Amino acid sequence: MPEESAGPSDSEGPRRPTFDGPPLSLEEEIAAAKAEPEPGPSIETVNVAVKDGVNRCPKCGSTDVQLREATGMLVCRFCRHEWTEERVEEEFGLGEGIDQLQGTVIASGAADIQADAADQVTFKCEACGAEVVVDTAHALNARCHWCRHTLSVNQQIPNGAVPDAVLPFQLNKDVAVGKIRDFASKRRLFAHRRFRHEFVPENVLGVYLPYLVVDGRAETEFVGRGEVETKRWTEKHGDDTQTFYAADVFRVSRAVAFTVDDLTMEGSSARADFGNGTTNNIINSILPFDTKNAVKWNASYLVGFTSEKRDRNVSGMEPELEDQLLSIGRSQVHPSLGRFDRGVRWEQEKVTVGGSRWVAMYLPVWLYSYRQASNGMLHYIAVNARTGETMGSIPISQPKLLLAALTVGTVLEGIVGTFLVAAAR
Ligand SMILES: [Zn+2]
Ligand SMILES: [Zn+2]
Repeated sequence: MPEESAGPSDSEGPRRPTFDGPPLSLEEEIAAAKAEPEPGPSIETVNVAVKDGVNRCPKCGSTDVQLREATGMLVCRFCRHEWTEERVEEEFGLGEGIDQLQGTVIASGAADIQADAADQVTFKCEACGAEVVVDTAHALNARCHWCRHTLSVNQQIPNGAVPDAVLPFQLNKDVAVGKIRDFASKRRLFAHRRFRHEFVPENVLGVYLPYLVVDGRAETEFVGRGEVETKRWTEKHGDDTQTFYAADVFRVSRAVAFTVDDLTMEGSSARADFGNGTTNNIINSILPFDTKNAVKWNASYLVGFTSEKRDRNVSGMEPELEDQLLSIGRSQVHPSLGRFDRGVRWEQEKVTVGGSRWVAMYLPVWLYSYRQASNGMLHYIAVNARTGETMGSIPISQPKLLLAALTVGTVLEGIVGTFLVAAAR
């Protein structure tokens, strides 16, 4: 087997220490790949300007504060003053130094969840002294039923319900309802008649879903075989014509170092197979979000919305991160494989995560759910409340399906993962 000597230059980069020196044995490579990165420093993201309880308007002191989607800002419903929290990107330096990351850096809102942590948080209302319970699994605000002040959970709590940052809703409910109608009507052929007739805009709910937003520095290596066709001919055997080819087989290796900026990963284990057991994930298909615009935590952004708390820890998500990095690495080296006209099959893949930084974030989604009467299946249409990107599964009309004879199950379209990738040169 010929050795490929002068490969394309994608393995040349300033940050690829594992590729210097004598080659590692396979055992050494596996050991190196398994070695856990050193835990890195934490980043403290508690918003010290707000405390648990009553969030007051900085101008007039009213507590009637909520998000105004049109501006993405908090608005005082009494004096109309608008303000916003700082972007975490600058406030906590989350955009900096990705190529310098060492170990696993975890922001305080992404810290491990304590297994015995309660979801119920009880406050003493500072306005009237009543005790108010907030079920943080679904909401970070509650109304005091004695004095009607809105009480907010602003401190990070050990059950994972308070993230480092929040990306506020920007599309209002009317826009979302329009997007959902458009989505359903464009798929009229497969839309169940009852779905169309029973569409209830009031059931469109604004939900903040938990994500971990990850920056990382990685090196990936791939070893395999590539084939280059040298000859092709046909032979006749009786009535059969057979095509043969000859090819040179090369041992091919590629390595690429790169950084990823704001890779978005599910923070809820239930959402990992959201969408009726299909592996395709409806929520993932409305990515990306403009996570750079996420702001410091302030529970007032959640007034009027529901939320779902994070239940996954960073340590449990590292294998998934490595899979995603390998996939990015594969696509990074792909353009250099053009000469192998019969393709390349990778036999060994390796990723070394030099450093990663994890930030917990709530991302805004308008969600419509619909239960299909015939089989009880739940279907969803989701709208990215920043970009308007809409995706969903729609129940299929069985009689029409027989006519069209195309597919069974759930129509789910256009699943595309999106990454921001900067290749190291
Ligand atoms: Zn005010
Ligand atoms: Zn009260």
